[in-house]
Amino acid sequence: MIYSTDIVIFGGGIAGLWLLSQLKKQGYHAILLESNTLGAGQTILSQGIIHGGTKYAIKQTLTPLAQHIKTMPARWQACLVGQGEVDLTQTKQLASHQNLWFPLQFGSQFVGFLASNAMRSRVEKLKPSHYPQIFQTPLFKGHVYSLNEPVLDVPSLLACFRQHYAAYIAKIDTEAMQLLVEETGIKKIVTHGIEIHAQRFIFTCGEQNEMFAKKLQADTIKTQCRPLRMLLIKSLPHPLYAHCVDKHFKPRLTITSYPTDEGYAWYIGGEIAEKGASMSAQDTYDYGLSELKQLFPWLSFQNLQWKTLFVNRAEPWQADGKIPAMPTLTAHRNSLFAWPVKLAYAPLLAQETIAFLQRDQIKPRFTPEHSLNSLFPVPEITLPPWQESSGWN
Ligand SMILES: Cc1cc2nc3c(=O)[nH]c(=O)nc-3n(C[C@H](O)[C@H](O)[C@H](O)COP(=O)(O)OP(=O)(O)OC[C@H]3O[C@@H](n4cnc5c(N)ncnc54)[C@H](O)[C@@H]3O)c2cc1C
Repeated sequence: MIYSTDIVIFGGGIAGLWLLSQLKKQGYHAILLESNTLGAGQTILSQGIIHGGTKYAIKQTLTPLAQHIKTMPARWQACLVGQGEVDLTQTKQLASHQNLWFPLQFGSQFVGFLASNAMRSRVEKLKPSHYPQIFQTPLFKGHVYSLNEPVLDVPSLLACFRQHYAAYIAKIDTEAMQLLVEETGIKKIVTHGIEIHAQRFIFTCGEQNEMFAKKLQADTIKTQCRPLRMLLIKSLPHPLYAHCVDKHFKPRLTITSYPTDEGYAWYIGGEIAEKGASMSAQDTYDYGLSELKQLFPWLSFQNLQWKTLFVNRAEPWQADGKIPAMPTLTAHRNSLFAWPVKLAYAPLLAQETIAFLQRDQIKPRFTPEHSLNSLFPVPEITLPPWQESSGWN
């Protein structure tokens, strides 16, 4: 059987799902093929913060190119209230603002800078009565700011896409799939006796993009991986959504929180996760715990359950190894390789991909006669680590 479509997307993380939604809107027939569960990889392990670039502005590393990040929170917020490019009204917003706090001893150094004209539109100094509950104690000595950066519950975000676009999403065994390549690019893919033809093939497989590039002999398309070991602890009495910065304004830790049956789980990234990448799980936990005891001396961290999650952040390869400032799209014959670099950037990546297809004169042409769901199952959504019962220490 031959199944012809306009676009095949490989990879059901945020990049592939957002792109699928926008291709449909533009009238293309597009399908998304996922080898595992939706969000497996980076998306489910992300902290769901819709960055607006404040972290870079604070470190004064916001290049003109990276200014685009400033527009992302508003773009996502429009979707959350049903007025944006994707209907995300069923996505849970865990916090309307990510916070930023720093211990009192850095006060004079930072307070002036954060009050400057450059920063005033980005951060708001909170009055103590508006501090997150965990800081509502006389023992807290520090300053707290609010950033216009919402924090989303990623499983419910993925569920929105699955709900709206299930008819175009399939789980397939890509290892058993044949990819037939000729001079002009991918001729077809064959799986379970079905030949899939398309005008363009788009890869949004994160770390696995490079594996597909190798199959297509696109040797210049490479992934760079930034290893992290995230720390997850429960059960905490209150949620917290905040970056704690060190004296160099580097995120010492970034905390997001999730309700569980046994109190809140805190998911911790930042410097802990960067250093943890070259440590054992136990050493990462010990280091994380000593940081938490220093920063929250009024809390008891007894009887915690914890686990660590090792994950690679996947980005397009850069000669200087730095994090790319923008989402990236690279073409090779009839294929495109895409990396959003950040969850927050998924809308911009989809926009740029569609602009690329339009410049390339790719127009909607196909309407397959078979429904995709009659041929393949729809992948489930990946369970987030705080809901998994296994792996806790
Ligand atoms: C710990 C961590 C925290 C982060 N926090 C944030 C944050 O708070 N805010 C933010 O903006 N960004 C954050 N990021 C970055 C963000 O998560 C990523 O940029 C984004 O999720 C990448 O999405 P993606 O769809 O490109 O890739 P992925 O999410 O990695 O998805 C790739 C998909 O491809 C599938 N796949 C793999 N191989 C194949 C194959 N052979 N065939 C078909 N499918 C395949 C996978 O199963 C997966 O579903 C974070 C990243 C990490 C690692």
